[in-house]
Amino acid sequence: MNAAGVFDVIVVGGGVSGITAAVRLSAAGRRVMLLEKRAYLGGRASSFLDQHTHTLIDHSQHVMLECCTEFDTLLRALNVSHHIRYLDQIRYLLPDGSQAALSACALPVPYHLLPSLLMMRGLGMRDILSVNRLLKAARSSLDLAEAGSAGGNEESTFDDLCRQARLTPSARRIIVEPLIFSACNAPIEEVSAKYGAMAISDGIMAGRRAYRIGVPRVPLAELFTDPTIELLRRNGSDARLQTNVVSMERTGPGVRVRDIAGRSWAANACVLALPYGRLVRLAPDRVLTSQQASVAERLVPSPIVAAHLWFDEDLRLPEATCLPGRATHWIFHRTCAPNAHCAAGSYITTVTSGDRSLASLSGSRILEIVLRDLQAALGTTMSIRPVHHRVVRERSATFVPAPGVDRFRPAVHTRYPEFVVAGDWTDTGWPATMEGAARSGRSAAAALLASLR
Ligand SMILES: Cc1cc2nc3c(=O)[nH]c(=O)nc-3n(C[C@H](O)[C@H](O)[C@H](O)COP(=O)(O)OP(=O)(O)OC[C@H]3O[C@@H](n4cnc5c(N)ncnc54)[C@H](O)[C@@H]3O)c2cc1C
Repeated sequence: MNAAGVFDVIVVGGGVSGITAAVRLSAAGRRVMLLEKRAYLGGRASSFLDQHTHTLIDHSQHVMLECCTEFDTLLRALNVSHHIRYLDQIRYLLPDGSQAALSACALPVPYHLLPSLLMMRGLGMRDILSVNRLLKAARSSLDLAEAGSAGGNEESTFDDLCRQARLTPSARRIIVEPLIFSACNAPIEEVSAKYGAMAISDGIMAGRRAYRIGVPRVPLAELFTDPTIELLRRNGSDARLQTNVVSMERTGPGVRVRDIAGRSWAANACVLALPYGRLVRLAPDRVLTSQQASVAERLVPSPIVAAHLWFDEDLRLPEATCLPGRATHWIFHRTCAPNAHCAAGSYITTVTSGDRSLASLSGSRILEIVLRDLQAALGTTMSIRPVHHRVVRERSATFVPAPGVDRFRPAVHTRYPEFVVAGDWTDTGWPATMEGAARSGRSAAAALLASLR
């Protein structure tokens, strides 16, 4: 099919950045064609069909915080924000095996979490005071960075900031490490002071409810695929799934895109909303800036390991359990969610962020480790076996927000006004998250709207 000249913009890549760009451009009256290689939209934040259970399973549980404002705007535009449930209480399995719950009280920020933190075995007033020092150091480091001062040192790690604030080992392990792993997908030693400071400011200081995690109650593919396509079609735009784009060329004032099946689409402009590893292979010659062309060599990938476990019995677990100091960072009890596609028993999913040694182990070894942590969360010594399991290792889930990383993250503008790039790896000032991707999609749409005027 040749639909030359029909579209104003082709968006290649239906991850969160591509969806955001497509939705914003079509809302601004541009006719958009969104092309996605896979059978579902959402990209890394999507699902696959598990052949054994015949259900859609997220590659990995995704969570969001209330500071994810641009991602929230996207969910509202798609009319799916009611599928996100924010958890007021988060269960903790502490390093000594005891359990505790994190929730806010009526005290003002940052004291709102104080009573529940003091109830956690292993944490005392000395630890809390050290977190307070860290929050102050983080705030002043962010202020200095905003003011462009050298004191907001781009080259220092968050570990440096923790040492400067004399963060105690217990506070580090129980309070700070889980936050940094979840927000930055890398260990404290590898994360820059700026991104670490952002994570703890956003997760603790941003408001009384900032600590709450938002959990989708439906598979991510369901959250994004049909709602995006329906919205685009209502705006006179469209989307094609299972469309593997293999070439792009500049055609004087516009662009022509071809997929592996030989179909082609033409438009006045194009958003390349691709992972940075694919970008160089697909972008037409001389379109990318040197920074865009070299980004894949500069960013350091970081893994996420997820295990999906099905049990034929109901496991007594809350919706989310945080496991500081253990190989498994989070356990999510998905069967708690209404609409969960699980007729009986429990569907559990676990997440470990930024742990390269775990990601290098075999699936069966990872399963053993995860089951050991799950057993501890259940408070049982009896061995538990799932009736079915899947271990997903995403070795390049995100990139490490390391010191100096912003120097390598390019803007969305390319060397030609009719091409822009989008992705969580662009210069959003955010770690690689759905929020970062949504912000990048917004910038890409704004850049094209300015140049297509
Ligand atoms: C396991 C895991 C867990 C995560 N957990 C969280 C979390 O809890 N919270 C959070 O905020 N973030 C999380 N993230 C990060 C988040 O998923 C990403 O930052 C975000 O989804 C990236 O979106 P994107 O649009 O930049 O890129 P992508 O999602 O990579 O989108 C790129 C799209 O381009 C498509 N594509 C590639 N090649 C072609 C081609 N030739 N033709 C057509 N289409 C093509 C891909 O299929 C994909 O859909 C996680 C990531 C992973 C991997």
